Amino acid sequence: MSSPLRREYLAALGLQTWVVRGKSPVSPEAATPDAPASREMLAPREAREAGVDWPELRARVAACTRCALCNTRTQTVFGVGNQTADWLIVGEAPGAEEDRQGEPFVGRAGQLLNSMLRAIGLAREQVYIANVLKCRPPGNRDPSASEVAECLPYLERQIALLHPKIMLAVGRIAAQNLLRTDVTLGRLRQQVHRFGLSQVPLVVTYHPAYLLRTPADKRKAWEDLKFAREVCARV
Ligand code: URA
Repeated sequence: MSSPLRREYLAALGLQTWVVRGKSPVSPEAATPDAPASREMLAPREAREAGVDWPELRARVAACTRCALCNTRTQTVFGVGNQTADWLIVGEAPGAEEDRQGEPFVGRAGQLLNSMLRAIGLAREQVYIANVLKCRPPGNRDPSASEVAECLPYLERQIALLHPKIMLAVGRIAAQNLLRTDVTLGRLRQQVHRFGLSQVPLVVTYHPAYLLRTPADKRKAWEDLKFAREVCARV
């Protein structure tokens, strides 16, 4: 990407262009070694969508009544983007705007996510974007463990169909549920984790909604995005 364009994207992200002096940030190689595989075997719930193609998976999600969120949603939010994408971005759950429009990350946080992606040279249309939950929890409360357990197999099938080169988990809820850990987001950053049987590299960063509230951490998010881009380039 040309420098002026890059500066423009960084400005949209709320970051000034700066040059690292001296020690460079942690490189993927120098970072903590790959975390151990989080899943060894397919549990029965996870096998439910095995072999299902995109249209059938979308239909199943649209008709899903596996948890009580089906009673309060306007519609399900399946996911959006390029089905041959190298990058899969995973958020937490639809918010009010996503519930209304049926597409992930279309509100203010989505605008910032788009800017974050542009900052590393990716258009929204180039990546695939999905959430851990396909339905909005009322009042944007955190997803419950049982909601995640019922819904995650849909995302796992999406991942199997996509074969992404890299997954970017945005926010604590996405990161902790994908990695099945309660380690803090701050400690999960700047590491290459692995997801599922296919061991897809997974990198963690801050949720854009958090960054809107805490702009001082945008700089760390920028480091995470560059880290993820390096990891992807190595795959
Ligand atoms: N926050 C998320 O985690 N996902 C969305 O789709 C929107 C907001």
